[in-house]
Amino acid sequence: TKWVYSFGDGTAEGQADMRNLLGGKGANLAEMSNIGLPVPPGFTVTTEVCTHYYANEKSYPGELSGQVDEALAKIEDIVGAKFGDTANPLLVSVRSGARASMPGMMDTVLNLGLNDETVEGLAVKSGDARFAYDSYRRFIQMYSNVVLEVEHHLFEELLENKKEEVGAVLDTDLTADDLKALLADYKKLVRDELDEDFPQDPKEQLWGAVGAVFSSWMTHRAVVYRKLHKIPEEWGTAVNVQAMVFGNMGDDCATGVAFTRDPSTGENIFYGEYLVNAQGEDVVAGIRTPQLLTIAAKEGQGSDLPAMEEVMPEVFNQLNDVRLKLERHYVDMQDIEFTVQQGKLFMLQTRNGKRTSQAAIKIACDMVTEGLISQEQAVMRIEPQSLDQILHPRLDPSAERKVIAKGLPASPGAASGIVVFTADDAERRANDGEKVMMVRIETSPEDIHGMHAAQGILTTRGGMTSHAAVVARGMGRPCVSGAGSIQVDYKAKTFTVSGVTVKEGDWITIDGGSGEIMLGQVPTVQPELSGDFGRIMEWADGARRLKVRANAETPEDAATARNFGAEGIGLCRTEHMFFEGDRIVAMREMILAEDEDGRRKALAKILPMQKADFVELFKIMAGLPVTVRLLDPPLHEFLPREKADFDQLAQDLGVPAEKIQQRAAQLHEFNPMLGHRGCRLLNSYPEICEMQARAIFEAAIQVGEETGDQPVCEVMVPLVGIQKELELMRAVIERVAEDVERETGKKPVYQIGTMIELPRAALRATTIAEAAEFFSFGTNDLTQTTFGLSRDDATSFLGSYEKRGILKHDPFATLDKEGVGELIEIAAERGRKTRPGIKLGICGEHGGDPASIDFCEETGLDYVSCSPFRVPIARLAAAQASI
Ligand code: ADP
Ligand code: MG
Ligand code: MG
Repeated sequence: TKWVYSFGDGTAEGQADMRNLLGGKGANLAEMSNIGLPVPPGFTVTTEVCTHYYANEKSYPGELSGQVDEALAKIEDIVGAKFGDTANPLLVSVRSGARASMPGMMDTVLNLGLNDETVEGLAVKSGDARFAYDSYRRFIQMYSNVVLEVEHHLFEELLENKKEEVGAVLDTDLTADDLKALLADYKKLVRDELDEDFPQDPKEQLWGAVGAVFSSWMTHRAVVYRKLHKIPEEWGTAVNVQAMVFGNMGDDCATGVAFTRDPSTGENIFYGEYLVNAQGEDVVAGIRTPQLLTIAAKEGQGSDLPAMEEVMPEVFNQLNDVRLKLERHYVDMQDIEFTVQQGKLFMLQTRNGKRTSQAAIKIACDMVTEGLISQEQAVMRIEPQSLDQILHPRLDPSAERKVIAKGLPASPGAASGIVVFTADDAERRANDGEKVMMVRIETSPEDIHGMHAAQGILTTRGGMTSHAAVVARGMGRPCVSGAGSIQVDYKAKTFTVSGVTVKEGDWITIDGGSGEIMLGQVPTVQPELSGDFGRIMEWADGARRLKVRANAETPEDAATARNFGAEGIGLCRTEHMFFEGDRIVAMREMILAEDEDGRRKALAKILPMQKADFVELFKIMAGLPVTVRLLDPPLHEFLPREKADFDQLAQDLGVPAEKIQQRAAQLHEFNPMLGHRGCRLLNSYPEICEMQARAIFEAAIQVGEETGDQPVCEVMVPLVGIQKELELMRAVIERVAEDVERETGKKPVYQIGTMIELPRAALRATTIAEAAEFFSFGTNDLTQTTFGLSRDDATSFLGSYEKRGILKHDPFATLDKEGVGELIEIAAERGRKTRPGIKLGICGEHGGDPASIDFCEETGLDYVSCSPFRVPIARLAAAQASI
């Protein structure tokens, strides 16, 4: 078996599509080498070795060591140096690389191959003793930390001591002799900690590092991350061993990271950061403030530090060429890592870059314009969920702002929250229903749960590519990073900036688009849907079959829905209209009435209000279909809960408070979800159905007269389980329609349908369809009733069900295709048999969930209906489902 794949010198044994075998990093190093980019030579130990390692009591295949030796010899040939040679030593890095990039894996070890002898060789060969000792120092520190597990800070302390002792400010102020002395301290530290000397044999070092990569596959952090992201354990990780190039050999050296386009805005400009005379992850680690690549970016951010374009223009141009070549080759925006050694450029990594959804849209559109991808490809490139980000509010431009500091605009969107300083506090207070803003000096993978719980994230250190920035963009959380003027005091739980002290629990607002940090809660406004967004949506609309409607009852929601491209209202929950203003009083009067007459009197008060609501709604929807659901919840939901409210109501209605309490007690249900609600209630009190039908028809006719365009209303009867329930209501509605026609001389245009939200309704769809012109799958209730699971009580154990793999996902968030889905399929099929062409739709949370929308497409439903803000997500998901 071939366990090792070499790359370098313009060729490679692997290539980009071998990511499963070589891991993402290894496959792309091979690919870059193949297309002639300057990649230091190296080799990849395959993921199959990892699998073998765990299947065979942590041992390697017999052929491995021979293949590694051969591959190492190839590197030696290309570089012209020998691993372990005291005069001319080859140094390598050892890098982990799973199929999907994965935090929690072993950190990269650089400068491997150095020991007390080779370091002298390196000093002579490079003519720079300081560089050689510094490299050895870094190596001992990294190797001891990631392979031997000696704590990092112990070395940092020794380094600080040494700096203090000789009066150095920066690491770079230490001389060769200082570093040499420090090396002795480092080695002594290792001996004290481990009772063993730091390994001097380069081969032993190499196999130690390789073993550490494989071991890191099973660390707690890696295991948790895999569970969270559903990465199978069998995948394993690869190990990359690569010849070192040095960004720390002087001022003609540098190291950096870049995106081929701006990952924040998507603009087609080169965006990156670099550090002169630095190595490895110095840029990301926030040790020094990184410098920008281009003059334009430098000026844009008002940075005083010179851009790479100015400092080393030739290398910059070369890097810019690589950028264009990579984009054309991968046909996507790339995230790259590079090092410059004595004026020569080396590429160390490339992968498809993470981006904000705003950037994703702009890049996809631009790439269509540039002829790189098709419109359909552009539509497929946008993660529907990610649209959430750009549909989020911005700061109200006219609002007053008290800006106290400015950092980098790391992830767009505006957010306010109360300040917390730890991830645990963020999570705890968010669970208590508070909006929190997580403030950290910098973040690490341990903070992810807090970042998730927070409205936004503010860090005082780190650039646009820092952990906080990258993770926040991925999550769609607004983030301002590197706000260096802010002093955080974790102990006191405060931060201070320009004379202002902000305490834990104080409100602040951040604008992740500008980097501004403000005191208090600044009001926000809804986003404008820019040109590129419109283009993607247009292409999506051209590709999709499913219609997309919105769940809306208020004029604002309806307007938002239309603005977002809804093609009608799929669910107007009329009961929401009963809570507003004095309507609730009339509603309560109706509920408390002794008899039908009393109820009719109260309903007569509600009728004009309800009619006015429908008039407004129909006008906003201007001819688009509107599905109005008749009263659904149990009556006691409308009664007051607090004693004071009972007394107030008694006063308003002029009845004794005890009477009201008595009625409330009467209406109490043990299991209201399965109780007297929906069409059961309407069948008990048909006058409610009558009033609502009248309000709908009168409103429709009025709007028809005013606008010349009578809306098509769909009257929907909820919670039907028995055909007769629907038939009786149908008779009432039809009678009202005739009455209205007689009174107005105009014929209402309408359809009558039902929700399918009980398993019995799905099973009896054949007969129910006789009385229904449309079905709307109310998948919230259908999920509850199919599982026999109350949504409100399920949270206590659904989480553990997911963790233990009993359920793959929360069935209230993503439709359970197997069970609930089968009922939908049955109902659709039987309904169509009775009434070919019966209109079928879905409303409820699932209508805005891409995976569920995919199912709706497969089942051939006519439309999905979701909350207004999810309409664009649904439009895009529907397009992707049919492409
Ligand atoms: P990560 O997966 O955390 O990004 P990498 O393996 O990419 O880790 O290594 C991190 C950094 O180490 C790289 O960006 C690069 O700067 C440096 N590095 C890795 N290998 C080499 C090498 N052979 N020569 C010089 N620098 C290297
Ligand atoms: Mg790393
Ligand atoms: Mg990397």
